[in-house]
Amino acid sequence: TEACLGAIEGADALGAFAHKTPERARGMAAAADLRLKAGDAPDLCGIPMGIKDLFCTRGVESQAASRILGGFKPEYESTVTSQLFEAGAVMLGKLNMDEFAMGSSNETSAYGNAVNPWRRGSDDTALTPGGSSGGSAAAVSADLCLAATGTDTGGSIRQPAAFTGITGLKPTYGRCSRWGIIAFASSLDQAGPMTKDVRDAAILLRAMAGHDPKDSTSADLAVPDFEAMLTGDIRGKTIGIPREYRMDGMPEEIEALWAEGRKMLEDAGAKVVDISLPHTKYALPTYYVIAPAEASSNLARYDGVRYGHRATLAQGDGIVDMYEKTRAEGFGPEVQRRVMVGTYVLSAGFYDAYYNRARKVRTLIKKDFEDAFDQGVDAILTPATPSAAFPLGAMEEADPVQMYLNDVFTVTVNLAGLPGISVPAGQDRDGLPLGLQLIGRPWEEGDLLNVASSLE
Ligand code: GLN
Repeated sequence: TEACLGAIEGADALGAFAHKTPERARGMAAAADLRLKAGDAPDLCGIPMGIKDLFCTRGVESQAASRILGGFKPEYESTVTSQLFEAGAVMLGKLNMDEFAMGSSNETSAYGNAVNPWRRGSDDTALTPGGSSGGSAAAVSADLCLAATGTDTGGSIRQPAAFTGITGLKPTYGRCSRWGIIAFASSLDQAGPMTKDVRDAAILLRAMAGHDPKDSTSADLAVPDFEAMLTGDIRGKTIGIPREYRMDGMPEEIEALWAEGRKMLEDAGAKVVDISLPHTKYALPTYYVIAPAEASSNLARYDGVRYGHRATLAQGDGIVDMYEKTRAEGFGPEVQRRVMVGTYVLSAGFYDAYYNRARKVRTLIKKDFEDAFDQGVDAILTPATPSAAFPLGAMEEADPVQMYLNDVFTVTVNLAGLPGISVPAGQDRDGLPLGLQLIGRPWEEGDLLNVASSLE
């Protein structure tokens, strides 16, 4: 803990931590020490971690990187963080992210963006750590903590993991409780570990997962010892390569990485087969209808009364002025864009044309995966992202849809509710890390982690 606190002090330029909690960390480390001495050392006893700012942590700022939650200190602890702390983990502070987890570059954060600790070999341009869990990825990659929590609605664990050379696991929807995690899109959001390797992800997932009566969508299933399932033996497993993920204009190095991954799995004794997931091309538009729709509904609660920021009102202003001014000041442009899109697709005149249609296509996307698994496929291998980390500011002026295209390989997994993992698996020509994604059967995170370990 002391080593991490020291490293954090020296790494302000990375912008990874939005709120540091050194006193609390020392207290938690001392308590862990006592447990250790008493011979009662749980799995994560004394392990220093960073917590994404989307998790409510009792008495500590939990702002979702938004001005509208300025100064909000919850009275309660999220289920996932309370399970981690019960298992002995130490919280070093709250990690930077995109505002309300909306973004792929960490640039929508009200705190200012986190920075990728990696640089290209050829120049010194500052790069994005990815998003929305960009602070988590930067902190783990730069050794500011041993591991971090992330959340993934459309790729926010896997894409930043790929951009920073770490491992990121999005569990099956329902594996971890969403209680106390500030909601973005409730049917897609899932918490997961961001770690240095697959084994750490297995250990952390066990502590984070489990049924929670406070989240009716959390699954009442036993949580296995995922670490014990890492046998390294994947002989006889069938791995699918979906042809629809071979996009036009895909960079050569991503193609090469994918081919290399295929070869590694074959060398380890897996059978690799080509498969088809025919509705893949509809995934991005479907996601960018469903996620904003749910976001617009979830974010309706930020009205200047119940939480955080309230605008200063003028003489004669009424309650509607208060709502409007507070929300105009409190939400950044990307969040406002999502609320407007979401409100539009849910409105009476357009509901059937957009939201309902997107829900139907979502079912078809899910069925594509079910068909592949029915044909005996155990896991699916794809690139995690269409490129390596891009420069900060590169997309600022661009059309927001350019940024959305980053999520092309990850959103299908959330729409289908499946587990997905990104593991560092190579470098681009500038020496930047690249990630491969494996997608698993529902509730089979143990198998998925085991297959992923053969890519390490
Ligand atoms: N980049 C995607 C978005 O902006 C995914 C974000 C996430 O997974 N939280 O919606």
